[in-house]
Amino acid sequence: MKRTNKISIIGAGFVGSATTLAITEAGIASHIVLVDINKDKAKGEALDIAHGAAFLKSTEIIAGDYKDTAESDIIIITAGVGPKKGETRLDIINKNLSIFKQMIPQIVRYSPNAILLIVSNPVDILTYITYKLSGFPANRVIGSGTVLDTSRLQYNLAKIFDVDPRSIHGYIIGEHGDSEFPVWSSLSIGPLSIEEYCKLENLELDELKSTVTHSVKNSAYEIIKTKGYTNYAIGLAVCRIVEAILRDENSILTISTYNPIDDVYYSVPNIVGRNGQVMKICPKFDEEEQSKLNNSKKILKDIISDINL
Ligand code: NAD
Repeated sequence: MKRTNKISIIGAGFVGSATTLAITEAGIASHIVLVDINKDKAKGEALDIAHGAAFLKSTEIIAGDYKDTAESDIIIITAGVGPKKGETRLDIINKNLSIFKQMIPQIVRYSPNAILLIVSNPVDILTYITYKLSGFPANRVIGSGTVLDTSRLQYNLAKIFDVDPRSIHGYIIGEHGDSEFPVWSSLSIGPLSIEEYCKLENLELDELKSTVTHSVKNSAYEIIKTKGYTNYAIGLAVCRIVEAILRDENSILTISTYNPIDDVYYSVPNIVGRNGQVMKICPKFDEEEQSKLNNSKKILKDIISDINL
C-alpha cells in the first residue's frame, strides 16, 4: 500500500486500541503501527481491528517494534502505568518517567521529524517530560490536554440547551485534572453569549455553571467507577487532533502546549496544523479565570520541580 500518512501508537491498552479504531474509521492514515511492551496485546489488537478491513477505509495496521515506527508522521503515546494502592501521584509520575526515559530515545531515533502526541496521564507532566527528553521543538511535542474535557463541556451544555454540541463554542483550559475550568467569559452558543441564552431559556446561570463544571470535572471518575477506565471518547479526541495535523486544518483545539515563560505545559486554545502547534489563541480572561489558570500552572510547576529529569 502506498505510504501517505504513518501513525505509530505506543501503548495498545484500552486507550491505544480505541484510538487505533477511531483513526482507522476516519480513514486518515495509510499505516498504523502498534507497539506495546506486551507484544501479544499489540498483536491481538492490531489483528482484531485489521479484520474489519471489509468495513473500513484502507489502512494497514500492524504490531511492531520501535524500528517499525520509522518515519512516522505522528507518534501517539498512551503507554504507562496507573496508580496502585497506597501510591502517591509522584510515585506514578516517577514510574512513568522511567518508562518514558526508555521509550523516547527510541522514538526519536527512528522518527526524528515526527510530531509527538502524548495521551498518558498526568498528560501535562508527561508531555513536558517528553519535550525535555526528545529535544524536539515545542511545536512538535503536544499533549491531548483538555480536548476531551472540552468535548464533555459541549456535551453537557448541548443536552441542557438541546442544540448540536458543535454549536457550543467554549473551552476547558488549564491542567488536564482537578484544577481545569471552563472559560465562561468567552463561551457562546451559536451567536449568543451564555448569559443571553440562559435568559432566552429562563435558566439560572450560576446554578448551570456550577452543575456543568462539576459534571465535566468528574466525568472520568464517574465512568471509571462503572467500567474501570475511559477509552472511547479519548480515542475520538486523539483522532480529532491527528486529523487536524494530517489535513493541516489549522483547527482550534485545547491541546497541551509549552509555555516558555513558565517552563510548563498546560492547555489553552491552540491552532493545530501540519507542524503541530501553530500558535496559542487566548481569549481575554476575567479576573477569576486568570487566577484559576495561575493556580493550574502553579500545581503543574510544583510537580515539575519535584521530578528528577
Ligand atoms: P492500559 O493499562 O490499558 O494501557 C497501557 C498500555 O501501556 C498497556 O498495554 C501496557 O502494556 C503498555 N505499556 C506499559 N509500559 C510500556 C512500555 N514501557 N512500552 C510500551 N508499552 C508499555 O491503560 P489505558 O486505559 O489504555 O490508559 C493509558 C493511559 O492513557 C493512562 O495513562 C491513562 O491515564 C491515560 N488516559 C488519558 C486520557 C486523557 O484525556 N489524556 C484519557 C483516558 C486515559
